Amino acid sequence: MNNSKELAIRFEKLTREIYPKTLIAVTKYSSIDEVLMAYSIGLKDFGENRVYDLKEKADAFHNEGITDVRWHFIGHLQRNKVRDLLKIPNLYAIHSIDSLKLLQELVSGQSLLNQPLKIFFQIHISGEEEKTGFPIGDGTLDEAVNFYMALKNTHPQFPFSLEGLMGMGPIRTEDFEGDTIRAFSKLFELRNSMVEQYKIPLKLSMGMSQDYKIALEFDADYLRLGSILFKN
Ligand SMILES: *Cc1c(COP(=O)(O)O)cnc(C)c1O
Repeated sequence: MNNSKELAIRFEKLTREIYPKTLIAVTKYSSIDEVLMAYSIGLKDFGENRVYDLKEKADAFHNEGITDVRWHFIGHLQRNKVRDLLKIPNLYAIHSIDSLKLLQELVSGQSLLNQPLKIFFQIHISGEEEKTGFPIGDGTLDEAVNFYMALKNTHPQFPFSLEGLMGMGPIRTEDFEGDTIRAFSKLFELRNSMVEQYKIPLKLSMGMSQDYKIALEFDADYLRLGSILFKN
């Protein structure tokens, strides 16, 4: 997409449709110039799923002197890339924490951060083999939450704040609507039971171009939209 008028129309329509939820524009298909153009017409939240693509774009914004952009890391994160990620200017949130080990790696790199950081725990909800995320019900998620809470409660300057849970709906499915509803309702129920158990507010990061309408029905707060905004 290289037409700023068309992008502005799509952005405005989607923003109205999901109001008051947050639209994260996923720019993994976009060039730096395209993302700068998107920023110039009012988009502020951008998502990337690879550390080095995010770094390239965030550095370009930084060099332009732009400081009010919010970068969301949404892809699978390898532990050996954590330190490079944490240093990125205007990094706002990481949506894809999928193990206690990864969380521990983030905590050990906290001095690299230039600002506080929101984090989401990614939950495996689709039933598909290759998707990452904490499984539901095996105790590993509780371990990670307890680790987080213990640090949060004892370190006044702890820079991470748990914003919520992230999940991805099924992609290859014979029953798209049914399987998507099942996946998103699992995340919705899990969120509700964790809010009760831990007494902390938790938001939901769920919904992509093909399934965001269903995600809205299950109280999604952050919609991660790529192709519907940027693909021709
Ligand atoms: C690519 C991607 C999206 C956006 O996907 P679209 O179908 O293009 O909207 C959202 N979330 C994650 C984790 C992604 O990798």
